[in-house]
Amino acid sequence: MRSLIAGNWKMHGTLAWAGDQVRRLTEKTRDGLPCDVLVCPPATLLSTVAGPLRDAGILLGAQDCHHETRGAFTGDIAATMLADLGCSHVLVGHSERRSFHRESSHDVRKKAMAAHRAGLVAIICIGEDRNERRAGKAFDTTAEQLARSLPAGATAANTVIAWEPVWAIGTGDSANVPDVLAMHRFLKQQLMTLLGDGVRLLYGGSVNPSNSRELLDIEQVDGLLIGGASLDPERFWQIATDGAPD
Ligand code: PEP
Repeated sequence: MRSLIAGNWKMHGTLAWAGDQVRRLTEKTRDGLPCDVLVCPPATLLSTVAGPLRDAGILLGAQDCHHETRGAFTGDIAATMLADLGCSHVLVGHSERRSFHRESSHDVRKKAMAAHRAGLVAIICIGEDRNERRAGKAFDTTAEQLARSLPAGATAANTVIAWEPVWAIGTGDSANVPDVLAMHRFLKQQLMTLLGDGVRLLYGGSVNPSNSRELLDIEQVDGLLIGGASLDPERFWQIATDGAPD
């Protein structure tokens, strides 16, 4: 399966900064793309970066969407609006949405369904927190989040899953290779039962150019979701080149 390397800029960037980021990133694509590369900027930057990224073959994604198509939802953005801006993907259920905005897997499922209706690929994020892992509940937690977050109509074509253990996000404490292997094997089995074969499963959590190669070498890892390191085009591109087929 072709790897997907996705960058989540979170709440970072002005117009000027984004213009510079995209220029530095797209310069690197002159000889082609090593794998599927996706950038998810904040909503304010989507329309500015859409054209240059598209011309370079880099995919555009958003960080969240509302589950309705329109209405009195101040501050929210519909999946159809994101598609209109040129997005092909949208993250749903990122741990920061689940914790800071109290989003449940039920909410995430509705958002994923809206993404599908708008023709977007939903990247559904799941992951246990440190207490759940310490208590030996990592597998139960992720299995439950997965089953509850997946909407009817999800397929390998319109859905990507990202396992992002909460304790690894932004901490510098990436999951180690045996833990990633064990969780990805487990989640692939779950996905096989729920959706069949071929669903991309990403790892996310403190990925950087020093650990990306060993993570991508794990057979069940189909790509990476990158926060902090995606803010530096050099580091992000270095990780993307590790996604090239052997
Ligand atoms: C993320 O927020 O999705 C993420 C993986 O962040 P970081 O790479 O900074 O841990």
